[in-house]
Amino acid sequence: MFEQIERVPGDAILGLIEAFKKDPNPQKVDLGVGVYRDAHGNTPVMRAVKEAEARLLKNETTKSYIGSHGDPRYGQAVLELVLGAQSPVLAANRASATQSPGGTGALRLAADFIKSQLPGKGIWVSDPTWPNHLGIFHAAGVELKKYPYVDADNRLDFEGMLSALQQIPEGDVVLLHACCHNPSGFDLSREQWQRVLEVVRERRLLPLVDFAYQGFGDGLDADAYGPRLLAENLDEVMITSSCSKNFGVYRERTGCMIMIARDSEQMENVRSQMAIVARENYSNPPAHGGAVVAEILHDEALATVWREELTEMRDRINGLRRDFVEALKPYGLDERFAFIAEQRGMFSYTGLSPEQVDRLRDEFGIYMVRSGRANVAGLSQENLPYVAKAIAAVVG
Ligand code: PMP
Repeated sequence: MFEQIERVPGDAILGLIEAFKKDPNPQKVDLGVGVYRDAHGNTPVMRAVKEAEARLLKNETTKSYIGSHGDPRYGQAVLELVLGAQSPVLAANRASATQSPGGTGALRLAADFIKSQLPGKGIWVSDPTWPNHLGIFHAAGVELKKYPYVDADNRLDFEGMLSALQQIPEGDVVLLHACCHNPSGFDLSREQWQRVLEVVRERRLLPLVDFAYQGFGDGLDADAYGPRLLAENLDEVMITSSCSKNFGVYRERTGCMIMIARDSEQMENVRSQMAIVARENYSNPPAHGGAVVAEILHDEALATVWREELTEMRDRINGLRRDFVEALKPYGLDERFAFIAEQRGMFSYTGLSPEQVDRLRDEFGIYMVRSGRANVAGLSQENLPYVAKAIAAVVG
């Protein structure tokens, strides 16, 4: 049976990691990876997470199943984190949380829910978007289409996006990145979110907000502006949240599918269906990451430590963005690349062509995705001057 199965090429980013490892250049720089790096190039376990784990190890009494919706303490903590503790949506009991294996697992729940409960509805994603969005909705059998997001000059194409949204058939789902757009780094301003809300309401679209980087852009609450605006002004919103980045628990697979309905009654109906979707996928989510997050968020002292660590990560990224532009000044390139300081999150569309990316790799040992996407967290005060010089060489 297996003799007819063709081998497919491996993931491009994984290939990049392999090539980087093999590169003997002592000055090599990895701007390809998709995880946060500290100044030493490490992705450490956060102190708050270590402390929560120590407590769990001591106090855990069972490894029994946690149920299809997961740990309710985790669900409540994530609802408050995402929607705000004082949210009118929570007061009205319109929101349901289903713990999921990472943000990816939440997206798959969303996709399967759309397929089974909203038959015939398609999903619209930004062009470009995180490549796995395409894979997840394809695997679930949901028809996927794209709306413009970045223009040919490597700038946010908001007018293009808005006019595309105005053409979307009523009832279709539109996927929006809450903040730290992956891969481009271009986020919507508050005025732009307002205009998106108006179109979504007018066209009766269903927003699915992918919230994978809460706290990595401008702050925990500032980054939640878009999803909260939609949740408070629309009857129905889906939000997929991930704790992978902001708690640094990537491998623990910790996410949440949040469903917001018109009222408590409809929320319970939707919630009952979501339990079935989860059960048919993996029965119960993994418990550990959710238990860690719940332990932190339900303990004010630990939550304070966590927020400080998160602020450190965010400040490092945003500082590197400014320093990067500064490092390009001696080459007269600071204005051309000024947008890098305006982008948010770990990723930047640099506007470099695939050929320029190839030259950076071959001549300088600087690795990034061929689309020109760089992970800013791969930069450091030590390698910034080298990277700036290399970029000047390839764009000059
Ligand atoms: N959405 C986006 C936009 C992402 O970049 C990622 C992670 N790279 C995810 C969702 C999923 O994150 P995870 O499954 O690791 O929680």
